[in-house]
Amino acid sequence: MDGSNSRTTATAGSVKTILVVEDEKDIQELICYYLKMEGFRIEQASTGDEALRSVREEKPDLVVLDLMLPGIGGLEVLKQIRFSMNLKTLPVIIASARTEESDIIMGLELGADDYLPKPFSPKVLTAKVKALLRRVDGSLDSHSPDGTDKQTITTAGGLVMDPVRYTCRLNGQEILFTATEFALLYLMAGESGRVFTRNQLISSVKGSDYPVTERSIDVQIASLRRKLGSAGESVRTVWGIGYKYQEQDP
Ligand code: CA
Repeated sequence: MDGSNSRTTATAGSVKTILVVEDEKDIQELICYYLKMEGFRIEQASTGDEALRSVREEKPDLVVLDLMLPGIGGLEVLKQIRFSMNLKTLPVIIASARTEESDIIMGLELGADDYLPKPFSPKVLTAKVKALLRRVDGSLDSHSPDGTDKQTITTAGGLVMDPVRYTCRLNGQEILFTATEFALLYLMAGESGRVFTRNQLISSVKGSDYPVTERSIDVQIASLRRKLGSAGESVRTVWGIGYKYQEQDP
């Protein structure tokens, strides 16, 4: 046997390429090692310039992006990706130390899909990468062609939300939400696992029935959790950052 019997990823289709942007050699090697073990193809970059060149030339399927980089920083790289016609939907996970919480929030608001707190465990790294690739593959089929996304959501946990009739059922039982609660839950349940900052939640419900502040988001979340009963656990607090909907641990 030679070395060619590497495992392939659990993700359907061809082998996915991950671009790992990290200036610290040890961390770079570690991330690449674990992702290779999962069968991913790896591209590497250690500066912001290299990262931007690589996303254009190598066309990776996902980017793990360190924020503290020499030269062009990670947030600027992310901004350029999101402002580029060809790259704006490229899945990006930002990697940052917990002490840089404001950078994480900024990254999520600039459109990062998820974040990886450093120091990270290899399990969390690979779980996040796989979950994001699944989410992206899934949303390709489920999004309506006109981009309105006004589609019924059905989750594995038995939650069914119809945004046209404004109805929500949990295992067949109707739950009555206010327009704001419905909008918040619809947004989060539609992208299970994605972390939303309070600001992102605020802008998603602006113009509905409630004056929206960071504090009022917390109040709305508490209320919709109550209405969901034991399923309310799926609406998770992400400390210091915001909220996400996730029915079970990754
Ligand atoms: Ca760094």
